[in-house]
Amino acid sequence: MKIYLLQIDAFPYNDELKTFSSNNNFTKLPLITNGQFTIPTVNSIMTGCLGSDLMDNGIAYHCHTSPRWLNWIKKYKNLHIHEIAHLQGFKSIINNFYDYFWGTFDHVKYNQPYNDLLKDKSFTDKNITNTSFIGEPHKRAGLVYSEEKENWLKFKEEMHIGNNEYFKREKKYINTLQSSDDDLFFHSNLWFHHEYVYRNLQPKDDSIKKTFEWLNLWDFNEPDSLFIIYSDHGFSVKEMTEPKDFLTWCFIKDNTINKLNINRKIICSSDIYSIILDKMNYTNPYNFIEGESIQKKLNKNRIYYSEDSRGDVDVLKCLTATAVQIIDWYDDNYPKELLQVTYNKSKKKYHYFTLNFDKNDYNPYIYKKIDMNDEENNKYSNNIKYIKDCLVERIKWLKK
Ligand SMILES: [Zn+2]
Repeated sequence: MKIYLLQIDAFPYNDELKTFSSNNNFTKLPLITNGQFTIPTVNSIMTGCLGSDLMDNGIAYHCHTSPRWLNWIKKYKNLHIHEIAHLQGFKSIINNFYDYFWGTFDHVKYNQPYNDLLKDKSFTDKNITNTSFIGEPHKRAGLVYSEEKENWLKFKEEMHIGNNEYFKREKKYINTLQSSDDDLFFHSNLWFHHEYVYRNLQPKDDSIKKTFEWLNLWDFNEPDSLFIIYSDHGFSVKEMTEPKDFLTWCFIKDNTINKLNINRKIICSSDIYSIILDKMNYTNPYNFIEGESIQKKLNKNRIYYSEDSRGDVDVLKCLTATAVQIIDWYDDNYPKELLQVTYNKSKKKYHYFTLNFDKNDYNPYIYKKIDMNDEENNKYSNNIKYIKDCLVERIKWLKK
């Protein structure tokens, strides 16, 4: 069996995406992410946990630069998805992803600090596959902002040279991958994200078009395979969280024999972890997992949590905690109204948003801020009180 996690970083939910989903018979679900930038969301997928379940103060913007970054791996053995994959006979492949996730591979040495792993040539060579990219793999997206930008511009040049050489190589890589057995494959496509970030928030070129070109290189009908394609957060996240920052999209296609029985019409990023464990027939011994099996009955009272930090506030501590509840549902169990409660610890302030779903679709970019001084919003007070209580109870660092 093959499991493909294709992360399309920060990619907006748009009409082309919806067409792509229906053309390829995906199940299309609204996704609530456990983070508003890449690392906490990826962490929730790889561990099923919130960042603060694993490290004090959650996963902040520059957490990965701390020597303590992966300390929890020693404490919670066989929690990480790549360790479980290893146990269950899957080969893990992380393709085109930030090097600070390398240390999360199945054969990570428990007592080896992350920085030493980076120096270990045999470790990096073994684990990173980037055959479609000529440059050094770990230079594709480095630790330092300027380096990352430089490499992105280099990569773009490469993507556009010759007679579609880059896409030919990529196609070959994907074909080879799709004809092997029992892999857990994680890929992060950063084209839109990098165009957005490195072009002054105005993606000027065809990064959206190129992304679809890349997606169309895949055979989504591969037998005995599971595809999960999603975006890890919104694309213009500011210091204070809004629905567009955590409400993204997730497409699932299950070509395996024992198909997933998808029992919900909304999903959380940590639930992706549970899908993979279901598929690998692995039961987690840990009782603090945030992710839920989407095959189980929907809990309509569920609260979805996320933690965030922005570089300009505190790079090593999360300061914004968000709790979201679907407070109204359509008859077919599609979400109808979402209510967001966010607390910012540095400003000591709460704020609230509401977003209405259409029947079987949604627009993550249209929502309303709730002003509790406005009498017409009294109808939300009970919900808000309940969600606030849950938030304070759940997020440990709020009480410190
Ligand atoms: Zn991201």
